[in-house]
Amino acid sequence: MSDETTMHLKLKPGYWLCIDPGNVKSGWLTCIEDESVMGHLRVVRSGIDPNRTIRRAMAQQREMQKEVTLLMECPKPRGQPTSAEEMETLVEIGRTMQMWRGPWSYIFRQEAKNGIVGFAQAKDKHVSQALKDRFGGEAIAVGGKRCKKCSGTKVVGKTRCPRCLLGTKTNNDCEHCDGGKDKSVYEKETCLECEGSGWHEGRGPGPLHDMSAHKWAALLLGCWWQDSEQVPVHDVAGKQPVKKKRKRKTRTGNVGA
Ligand SMILES: [Zn+2]
Ligand SMILES: [Zn+2]
Repeated sequence: MSDETTMHLKLKPGYWLCIDPGNVKSGWLTCIEDESVMGHLRVVRSGIDPNRTIRRAMAQQREMQKEVTLLMECPKPRGQPTSAEEMETLVEIGRTMQMWRGPWSYIFRQEAKNGIVGFAQAKDKHVSQALKDRFGGEAIAVGGKRCKKCSGTKVVGKTRCPRCLLGTKTNNDCEHCDGGKDKSVYEKETCLECEGSGWHEGRGPGPLHDMSAHKWAALLLGCWWQDSEQVPVHDVAGKQPVKKKRKRKTRTGNVGA
């Protein structure tokens, strides 16, 4: 850490930009602490974009950065040879950090995995599973499975008059469809299986519906940060680093399907 940084308590309510950096593209996710939602963290936006696109966006949004803490995953120094890709990623991290004008912190993925999944060697599938569990389980967190009966169309059966229930026969005395002549009133039946929602068990897409590998990694940073006891937030330009502690949150009972 350079002596141009300080440490202080994180801003409340927390609004974070989490980045899983790559040498060319990076996964990112913005989230805000919100006690009213599952996992107490509301995912606002997420994406996977070229690093230069992310830096351009940062350059255009300088003011808001003071309100947001940047959580940047960073390779952990481990005293052994590393790949060209990892070296490039480190350079890219530096370039991106230079565009940031607000508070920020590095997060080591191993530590985040250890905190959220329980072991530092956790694979991607373990990470996504742990995060789904944290946000209420697959059905709630991801949701968005289409109703099998209507394939998500919300309706079933043949197109017919909803009053006389005749679709093909004409010449009856129904006023609604004018004896079958006015086919503009014809419609299909609402799917009872999903009660017309088109979604399996009536559950539309959950907050983590649109996730992928890099976004999961970014969310991991946010969740770890949310739970962190010690909060090393850096500020560009300031006094000498001072470590402060923050009370650890109890999460028990907050999560469950
Ligand atoms: Zn249905
Ligand atoms: Zn009719």
